[in-house]
Amino acid sequence: MTDDTTPSRDTVAVPERIDFPRLLDFYNLQSEEETRIHEFYDRLREDSLSTTRCDECDALHFPPRIVCPECTGDDLSYTSLPHEGTLFAFSVVRGSAPIGMTDDVPFVMGIVDLEGVDVRLSARIDGAAYDDLSIGDRVTLKIVDIDGPRDEDRVFYRFEPVRSVSE
Ligand SMILES: [Zn+2]
Repeated sequence: MTDDTTPSRDTVAVPERIDFPRLLDFYNLQSEEETRIHEFYDRLREDSLSTTRCDECDALHFPPRIVCPECTGDDLSYTSLPHEGTLFAFSVVRGSAPIGMTDDVPFVMGIVDLEGVDVRLSARIDGAAYDDLSIGDRVTLKIVDIDGPRDEDRVFYRFEPVRSVSE
C-alpha cells in the first residue's frame, strides 16, 4: 500500500535473514539473468498474468515453459491469460507454512480454473476464510509485491474472491 507507483497492491514480506535462501525462499528468482521465463514475471509486474503457447503445436502451458512438453519445440510465444476464474478445489493451511507466510496461518490455498482457457493453477486465496468459500466461487487475480531479502523487485500471483456488488 505504500508503493506510490502501485497504490492498490499489497506487499508481502520475506524475512531479511534466512539461513538457506535459495532452498527456502518460496518465491522464484525473476530477473533475466536468473530465469529464462523472466518475461512471465516482467508481465506480472505490469499487472498481466501470462504464459507460453507453442508456435508449433499450439499447446498452452502453465507454468510457462522454455520447451514445449507436448512436441519438444522451443518456438514459444507469451500470451495473456484471463484474470478471473473459478475455484476447482481449496484447502486451508493451518501450520508448517513457508517462510514469509508463517504469521498468516490459517490461510487458504486453492486450485483455480481460469475462465475460457485450459489452464488450472494453484495459488493462495486471499480475502476469505476457508469456511466462507465454496467450490465454483468466482475468483480474480491479485498480484502482490515481495519485500526482501533481495534488492530485486519481485512479484507473485494470488487470487481473491470476486466481490458481488449486490451482496
Ligand atoms: Zn508444442
